[in-house]
Amino acid sequence: MPLRERRLNFGDKWNYAPAPEDSKNYAIAPQHELFIGGKLVKPKSGKYFPSINPATEEKLTEIAAANEKDVDSAVKSARRAYEKVWSKMPGRERGKYLYRIARIIQEKSRELAVLETMDGGKTIKESRDVDLPLVAAHFFYYAGWADKLKYAFPGKNPQPLGVAGQIIPWNFPLLMAAWKIAPALACGNTVVLKPAETTSLTAMRLAQIFQEAELPEGVVNIVTGAAETGAALVNHPDINKLAFTGSTEVGKRIAQVVAGTKKKLTLELGGKAANILFEDAPIDQAIEGVIAGIYFNQGHVCCAGSRLFVQEGIYSTVIKKLRDRIQTLRVGNPLDKNTDIGAINSKPQLQKIRELVQSGVDEGAQLTQSSCSLPSKGYWFPPTFLTGVTHSHRVANEEIFGPVLSVMTFRTPEEAFERANNIPYGLSAGVWTDKGSKIFKMVNKLRAGVVWANTYNKFDPTSPFGGYKESGFGREGGLQGLAAYCKLD
Ligand code: NAP
Ligand code: MG
Repeated sequence: MPLRERRLNFGDKWNYAPAPEDSKNYAIAPQHELFIGGKLVKPKSGKYFPSINPATEEKLTEIAAANEKDVDSAVKSARRAYEKVWSKMPGRERGKYLYRIARIIQEKSRELAVLETMDGGKTIKESRDVDLPLVAAHFFYYAGWADKLKYAFPGKNPQPLGVAGQIIPWNFPLLMAAWKIAPALACGNTVVLKPAETTSLTAMRLAQIFQEAELPEGVVNIVTGAAETGAALVNHPDINKLAFTGSTEVGKRIAQVVAGTKKKLTLELGGKAANILFEDAPIDQAIEGVIAGIYFNQGHVCCAGSRLFVQEGIYSTVIKKLRDRIQTLRVGNPLDKNTDIGAINSKPQLQKIRELVQSGVDEGAQLTQSSCSLPSKGYWFPPTFLTGVTHSHRVANEEIFGPVLSVMTFRTPEEAFERANNIPYGLSAGVWTDKGSKIFKMVNKLRAGVVWANTYNKFDPTSPFGGYKESGFGREGGLQGLAAYCKLD
């Protein structure tokens, strides 16, 4: 009997019992201040904004809104720390702090995972098993380089750049902070970090961890706030390096502001990855990879495999399997260990997903959605795929940043890479085939910073990540990520 019929016959017996992490184990202070000069300080404007849990719409806490003056005092504090302490400290000493931070993160990883899930809506499965281990791994990895910089770049004399302004998005709040802070500190730079407005909670926990690790004051400063806070950081004259992860639209604006200044810039921007599925691929394994690549983490992943190119001969089999599989994905309480798809990060993001999916339908694509029930409160979108998508459709070109897959077909490898590349983005791609030669051919032709073969969304701190074209420039992770924070003369 097919799986779905059995599910129907057995009714609720196929569902797991609820297994939520207890959110009450971890106290959240009602108000969060700025982290400047090693201390928690009130914002000069006296203004705070709410941070909510997108799965329940409950207010979790109030976050300080930093204005230009707060940003200025954070940059001054970073400059002082750079000149007096951090750039003068031997690498082996800087490394000790980074190891200490990594170990404290590991000790507190359960608490950090729960808070990340409550603040951002991502599943505990994702924050506990993916985000937090990678956060600690990045600090460990770059701690190891702190006293070996001259071996990292033979024949060069790597020197720090100075004060780094770092702006991050809401989809991987702690992980993006780790990607940026760890290499900057390892090289002897100091930092002013601006988290995303909807996900500042864990960044402020990170501030407590820096205090606990006795990181010298001012080495990392955290200014919370919305776009204006980020803009104040971008415009500040005493920043030597800007690292931005976020949308292509804002990235382009930042590039214009920074042009003509001496600020060094790296941009990690949007993506619209192609997952290419050949007839000779192990289909069930590939379907699981495609599902994980777009639906887990609610599709809130810049490198999400949001375009699926299926070779014509297996199209109907793949569609049938996809339809069955999305029906079994569990959508709901992100704190439940069995949940596959959590809450959409914010109301505006949910509206954006709805609008783009509607545009796909209006332009002639066919919609397939799971019939799962959605919680009555919070922001939710069911796992969805669109067939009959053509290249001219908006859903084939624009980043949806939600659990929505656009499915298209191809006949030959040439057609696959030409269509995959025919887009302004170039962040990541996936290839599924049994033939190693085909993998090499595709990898060489795909204009994407990362290409996964017979797997998807796998990360490691030793491996560089970044884009081509409108997906940005510069690399994070690995030696390349270290080079982005050094003068290499
Ligand atoms: P976003 O609107 O560009 O925001 C990113 C960050 O920039 C946030 O902290 C934001 O603050 C701040 N910001 C907004 N306007 C600014 C301005 N004019 N000047 C300076 N800072 C400004 O992006 P998002 O919608 O939050 O994040 C999703 C995007 O990030 C997607 O496009 C995704 O592909 C991309 N992303 C890329 C990577 C990568 O590695 N390539 C990784 C993750 C995400 P507020 O949030 O407070 O407005
Ligand atoms: Mg929140």
